[in-house]
Amino acid sequence: MTDQYLDTNRRATDKQFTLLCIDDESANLKILASIFKDTYKVVVCKQPTQALAIALDVLPDLILLDVVMPDINGFELYEQFKEQPEVKHIPIIFITGLQSAEDEEKGLVLGACDYIQKPFNYGIVRVRVNTHMEIIRQRKLLESFAHIDSLTELPNRRKWQEDSANQWEFAKANNKRLVLGIVDIDFFKKYNDSYGHQQGDIVLRKVANAIRRVLFEHDGAIYRCGGEEFYFYFPSEKRTNIEEILAQCLEAVSGLEIQHQSSLASSILTASLGAVEVQPNDAHSVDSMLAIADEKLYRVKNTTRNAVHFSQIP
Ligand code: GH3
Ligand code: MG
Ligand code: MG
Repeated sequence: MTDQYLDTNRRATDKQFTLLCIDDESANLKILASIFKDTYKVVVCKQPTQALAIALDVLPDLILLDVVMPDINGFELYEQFKEQPEVKHIPIIFITGLQSAEDEEKGLVLGACDYIQKPFNYGIVRVRVNTHMEIIRQRKLLESFAHIDSLTELPNRRKWQEDSANQWEFAKANNKRLVLGIVDIDFFKKYNDSYGHQQGDIVLRKVANAIRRVLFEHDGAIYRCGGEEFYFYFPSEKRTNIEEILAQCLEAVSGLEIQHQSSLASSILTASLGAVEVQPNDAHSVDSMLAIADEKLYRVKNTTRNAVHFSQIP
């Protein structure tokens, strides 16, 4: 998820959002760009036949689309956008010289979020587009909340399911190797019993953040997938020192030096880790790899705790 949507105090008018204007007349594009250039990243497109490719490239947040254009008209282009998975969700506003009620109805029935007639009043266009962008920002914010664990602010299990599947497919397609694993805090129930649940919450946040930082350095990511259980991945190459990175994750936890008097593993709070490295292919899956990582974690838990069990899948 992009952090831009996470800041609830940021408005849609902070130039974080991209507006794509498609019109065959340069004069119109110039006016629209001048209205919005201080508010959004504005991308203009004068060739309607290139509009889809540009949209796929910049993935705008909102599209302003002219209707009467050569080669392909705006209504047809609209249908093309809606057939393309990567851009079909992007709201479109028609901005057109077509003045009849029938045309306006047609545009709105197609599913456009608004229909603005030319010649347009600059102030009104500005306000209408800003209103739509604000709705878009709020929708994205809500979507991002569905993927975030509110206690640790790490992405949650739902996001893990999406991201790990994407990482798996990407690695498979590009012949890359991947490390997948699970970290679980040691004797955390005892920690809560000794120091209180509220203090336990504070510790969970610290631990999450500490491991997140290590994995971030190695292009990986960590997700809160259970109470005090985290799933993670990072890409690996021949020269990646996997075991060192895994050890760093645990050192990041012990390095917090959080006193844990009732732990049977150490006098400070520790965690245990199980992981596998694999070349994703059809013989395996994220879930089958996690099952192996879980077995490894289980073995650590049954021995010393505060340690890593790791293996490479041939
Ligand atoms: P082990 O070393 O075998 O992993 O022992 P453990 O006590 O950490 O594991 P167990 O699975 O028995 O207990 C997990 C504990 O994590 C129980 C629960 O109270 C605590 N926990 C889970 N979610 C939260 C949370 O959101 N906040 C706090 N404070 N504690 C939590
Ligand atoms: Mg635990
Ligand atoms: Mg657990």
